[in-house]
This record gives sequence, C-alpha cells and structure tokens, in this order.
Amino acid sequence: MMNPIYVYPNFDYTALPASTPYYITDRALLRRNMEIMQEVQERAKCKILLALKAFSTWNFFDDMIPCLAGASASSIYEAQLGAETFGPGKELHVYSPAYTEMEIRELCKLADHIVFNSITQWLKFKEIVKNADHKIEVGLRINPEYSEVRKEIYNPCTNRSRFGVSAETLVDAGPDALDGIDGFHFHTMCQQGSEVLGRTLEVFCDRFDKYFHRIKWVNFGGGHDITRMGYDVNRLCSIIHDFQDKYNLDVYLEPGEAHVLHTGFLVATVLDVIENPNGNDVVILDTSATAHMPDVLEMPYTPEIRGARRQSEDVDGPLEEGGFKYILGSKTCLSGDVIGEYLFDTPLKVGDRITLEDMSQYTVCKNTMFNGVQLPSIASCDSDQENGDYHLIREFNYEDFKGRLS
Ligand SMILES: *Cc1c(COP(=O)(O)O)cnc(C)c1O
Repeated sequence: MMNPIYVYPNFDYTALPASTPYYITDRALLRRNMEIMQEVQERAKCKILLALKAFSTWNFFDDMIPCLAGASASSIYEAQLGAETFGPGKELHVYSPAYTEMEIRELCKLADHIVFNSITQWLKFKEIVKNADHKIEVGLRINPEYSEVRKEIYNPCTNRSRFGVSAETLVDAGPDALDGIDGFHFHTMCQQGSEVLGRTLEVFCDRFDKYFHRIKWVNFGGGHDITRMGYDVNRLCSIIHDFQDKYNLDVYLEPGEAHVLHTGFLVATVLDVIENPNGNDVVILDTSATAHMPDVLEMPYTPEIRGARRQSEDVDGPLEEGGFKYILGSKTCLSGDVIGEYLFDTPLKVGDRITLEDMSQYTVCKNTMFNGVQLPSIASCDSDQENGDYHLIREFNYEDFKGRLS
C-alpha cells in the first residue's frame, strides 16, 4: 500500500511570469493524491466523491475525474458545476441543510443522489423526487451525536446542531418515514484519522443498524485526512471492508480537503517592511488572510511558509530564536488581518516573493474582494515536467469586483 508522504519537490512556485498574488496548484502533487484515492477505492471497494465545497477550481478536474466516482455538491450552483464538469458516467450527490421547491425541481434534473437533512424536508419533497425523469437515490442525513471535533465551528454534533436526524427523532417519526429512503449519510469529522472513523462508526452502527436492512448505502461524509502524512490508509480500508462484510451496504466517502492536501501554494509579494522599535517588525503583503485564505482566521491556524519557521502561538513546540522575525500582515484595513509571526533566515525586503503552503483547499472557493483587494490569479504548474509547465489560468479585474456589487 502506498502511504501518504509529504515532501514538497524542490521546485520554484514563485517563478510564474505573472504578477502576484496567485494561487498555484501543482499537477504532479495532485496526481500523487489521486493515486491514493484510486487505491483506496480499489482495495476497500468503496466510492470516493469530491466535495466541491472544498475545491471547485475546475481547471484541475480533468486530472481528478478519472480517479473518482463523482462529486458531491451543497447547492444548485455546485450541482450545476459538478454536472457540467464531471458529466455523465459519474455520480452527482447533493446535500443541503434545506432546499426550496425550486431547488429540488432543478436538482432532480442535475443529481442522481439527493440527501435530505430532516424528515420534514424529505416528506415535503418526496413526490417531486419520486416523479423525477430519472431514478433519484434518496439519502437521509443522520446525526449520530458523536464527534471528536473539538472546535465548535466545525463540530456538527453539538446540542445546538442543525445537521441531521438523531436516533430519537427517527424513532418519533415512525417506521413509515423511511419509506423511499435508499441510504444514510453522516458527516462528523474534520481533518481526522481513520481511528476516529472507527470509533464514530461504532456509535453510528450501535444507534442505527436496526434500520440498515431498509437501505442500500451509507455515506461516511468528509473530514478523512486520507492523504496526510501518517494517515493509516490500511485501517481505513479494513474498516470499510468490515462494515460492508457485516451489513452488505455500499460505502461512499466524500472528502474535500484530502483530495488537494499539500498540492497548492499562494505566492505573494512583500510591499513594505515596517521596522518597529519594540521589535515587532511588520511586513505588508499583497494578499490578505481574511480575503484570500479565510480559514487562517476562522480555524484559526498559521500556514507554513517556505524558508520560514512559524512563531505563532497555535504552533506546537517551543518558539525558536535567531533569524529575522516578522509579523506578516495583509493588505486590508481589518486590524486582525494578520497571517502570523515567522522567523526568516534572511531579512525580507520589498519585492521579495513568499510562498504560503497548502493553499488549494478552502481558498479559491471561499475568497472575497473585501476592501476591493485584488483577487489572486489562478495558476498551475507540473513539478514533474522539466520546464515546470507553468500556466496562468485566470486573472481577475475591476469588472469582477464591480459586477457583483449591483
Ligand atoms: C465539508 C463537507 C465535506 C468535506 O469535508 P472535508 O473536511 O473537506 O473533507 C463532506 N461532506 C459534507 C456534508 C460536508 O459538509
């Protein structure tokens, strides 16, 4: 079995002849992840979908589609994008906390699997789904009331959660509520290993296996860190294998992040270096945490930067000394729009390009033009090719900014 390793190639992601900022995804690294996804599907006999929410930069889909069973969307737009890009022969699943009737009618044309968040939504749209032109597989999102996610913002199983049907609700709804339901769906993990899946599945089966004779498949959601270094792929495969063996149900996984983990970079330029007498020297970059990598503030976390060591409080281990210390700040007017504190081996100067690591997921699909700040361009490269095969795919301009505002 191929185990996820993560060693970035010695490759210059700043060498694209284009102005910064830009996101650049390395197709060679993407292929490496796709090989792992393919191997898991073959060994575990499961189907893996791409959760479009995490990565919908469709220029790269040609590298991914042959390796995946389909895509998973959370809205009409994502469903339309999935249908257009993945095309026939691939599955398109949709889940949303609630649908309008207009959306359900449209989704019945685009999708082959629709997952409902509640019994009321399911019963409300049952007839429309049943009368669709093609057979729609219907799923029900389950809330197993078990999650090991500690950060509240990413925990779908708090007692204020709006996600999924609990065991108690399902009992109250009575057995007829499941008539027409083909599968169950749970999503309770975030950046976690297969041991967490094992424990989650134990609780899920304990509470819901009395219904398994009525369904055909279970979707284990996302949050599986399949391509992260140290992830136990063998255990994932045996967990899925044992589950299928015991219950004779098909299994789907729909990770987002894992498909593109460690494949992308955000390249930015130093615009100014502000020396402060108190030692807190600040660098202003032509990018922004809140606008271009919002998870840095939402998680929050401090991204790795090539040639620098992180000094921020969320980073494990002792803070280091030596080198040149800078607070990397953004080009917006939000005081808290700071990327983090770093030690560089050499002093930074105006015009230097810096490379922020692991920036494919939850960036392009989540960015904004807050403050009217320039959106990073989208680029690709291939570190396996001798010339690097750099391409500038998309640039954004004033019309993109103005067009969305009225
Ligand atoms: C966000 C989400 C995913 C993907 O999660 P990752 O953490 O990116 O793997 C999958 N399914 C559902 C329902 C989600 O909300």
